[in-house]
Amino acid sequence: MNYSGMSLRQTEVDLHAHSTASDGQLSPTQLIEKAIGSGVRLLALTDHDTINGLKEAREAAVGRNIQLVSGVELSARWCQHSIHIIGLNFDAEGYSLTNGLAQLRQLRTQRAVAIAEKLEDLGISGALSWTSKQVLSTQITRAHFARLLVERKYCRTIQQAFKKYLGPGKLLYVECNWPPMKEALDWIRASGGCSVLAHPLRYGLDVTQLTQLLHEFKTAGGDAIEIYSGTDSSGEIMICTRYARQFNLKASIGSDYHGETQRRSRLGATCPFSVPVQPVWEIFR
Ligand code: AMP
Ligand code: MN
Ligand code: MN
Ligand code: MN
Repeated sequence: MNYSGMSLRQTEVDLHAHSTASDGQLSPTQLIEKAIGSGVRLLALTDHDTINGLKEAREAAVGRNIQLVSGVELSARWCQHSIHIIGLNFDAEGYSLTNGLAQLRQLRTQRAVAIAEKLEDLGISGALSWTSKQVLSTQITRAHFARLLVERKYCRTIQQAFKKYLGPGKLLYVECNWPPMKEALDWIRASGGCSVLAHPLRYGLDVTQLTQLLHEFKTAGGDAIEIYSGTDSSGEIMICTRYARQFNLKASIGSDYHGETQRRSRLGATCPFSVPVQPVWEIFR
């Protein structure tokens, strides 16, 4: 499918959204309905480390006024920092990616068990079965544990749960040895997809570090950076646009939508895309 022929406006494109296959609040079918209602014509479902929601989303999109692109948001490591790499428009049966996803599933399960054990030690029982029931797949995220803490009234908000318990260095934080960035990029490429560095400004890196990350991302075969991920200011969009040009990367846009009550982003990105950077969907293979 050649998406460059669709003459899309940027407000009709959303290449970053979550469903109940990971930590989103809408099922894949509900997400498709919501996207259509929001005027999105090109959507990627990008759940954390899983493509389990893709089949249902595809079925829901058949015959509707929306194109669904295969997507995933991979957890990866760069110099001890956790980063997110989005894969787009890949072959969902591709061996390399499915094999990588199996590795990530194992890491997530191990970490979920470890977090549940910490909770058990604090006298909070049944965390693993509670969080497991929240997901279609086995991709339990910290967001699910945050919801448990809110549900059981240990915290008032999800943000507070991260700030007090689940953020780096906090009581319930468990380090996860995500695969190196290069591996995640190779899995996506080998399965015919494009790779995007998600929300580059959210990793807490200084300019020198981010420049180095982008240099290594490009050298390792990365295709694009997200210049809008749901909540960025026009200044932040400009910074990312400059990085895209500096490193000769394409631009991706998405909302990072998780549901109506989580975060502030709305489905359907609304980035003023008037900058001279090539959209990533024009190079979908
Ligand atoms: P994980 O990939 O399991 O470490 O979980 C990360 C997910 O938790 C992210 O994708 C967000 O959806 C959510 N998250 C991370 N930090 C925060 C935060 N400070 N406030 C709310 N949600 C967060
Ligand atoms: Mn998430
Ligand atoms: Mn992310
Ligand atoms: Mn995301």
